[in-house]
Amino acid sequence: MPAPLLKIEDLHVEFKVYEGVLRVLNGVQLIVNPGERVGLVGEAGCGKTTTMKCILQILPSPPSRTTEGRIFFNERDIRQMKAHEIQDVRGKGISMIFQDPTAALNPVFSIGDQLTTVIRCNSRTTLSKKGIHQRAITALREVQLPDPNRIFDGYPIQLSGGMRQRVCIAMALATEPELLIADEPTTSLDVTIQDQILRLLNELVDEHGTSVIFITHSLGVVREMADRVYVMYAGCIVEGAEKSELFSDPLHPYTRGLMSAVPKLTGGGIAEGIPGRIPDYLDPPSGCRFHPRCPYATEECKAERPELTRIRGSHEVACFAVERGEINAQ
Ligand code: SF4
Repeated sequence: MPAPLLKIEDLHVEFKVYEGVLRVLNGVQLIVNPGERVGLVGEAGCGKTTTMKCILQILPSPPSRTTEGRIFFNERDIRQMKAHEIQDVRGKGISMIFQDPTAALNPVFSIGDQLTTVIRCNSRTTLSKKGIHQRAITALREVQLPDPNRIFDGYPIQLSGGMRQRVCIAMALATEPELLIADEPTTSLDVTIQDQILRLLNELVDEHGTSVIFITHSLGVVREMADRVYVMYAGCIVEGAEKSELFSDPLHPYTRGLMSAVPKLTGGGIAEGIPGRIPDYLDPPSGCRFHPRCPYATEECKAERPELTRIRGSHEVACFAVERGEINAQ
């Protein structure tokens, strides 16, 4: 078995704000193997994007502070790297597509300027000026933008939201990264465009053989895009499994709640939902952060944080009720 491309161990991140300290990430653990597509799913505000920004070391500090944890990329701890080594990882090693393509593109530079800058700064090979231009046009063609030469000379304001996100995908893949982080890349787009963008992304990562972390709050999207799925709740990974196993046999009470909240054609779904709300990170619940919302919670859950434990194969769960056998694998 090859070494994981990315391995996060026990990652803790907090933010110092006026009211106090927000303890956002609480021991995140996650692995991405070479060539794998990993889905990361959870409610808005659960720490998905914070985790990804921490991998790329782009969280502003202050107010953020990584208090514990290690992030191995190709078996080297990113947190121990020097600034120029981290710069090498960004782009050549890992690139990211952000939620909002309008915010991700600079309105005062042409698409061509922005795309060629990314290629020039991050390409593995030393390309000539002409080579960089050709690579940029090829990247725009790959994302199926009509008339790439015209787009190259244009500005973000001249493009629709879907076209801007295609440009961002072109930018993220133009340097042929080993790992692509796609952070809810369709959230800000019209529903009619979302499916096109997801299909395009799927085709391109197949062609390039890129590993992917796909962040979403939609179980439907993760079902389409991922081989393996992690479920995140309030700054913790609570369950991880192969996609088919997670959907056929979810074990963590939060994962089960998420599944039951999906609207069904026969009715129900949203109304069943999960009672309560995501905790306040200024004063998060002790022990298992899900205990105020969990029907299986005991005193043990309030006192101790459950560790992510392998149940079978690659299926891991962080829950005392599963360990006690109160929630069984089918
Ligand atoms: Fe519920 Fe306890 Fe499991 Fe947390 S550890 S999900 S509170 S049973």
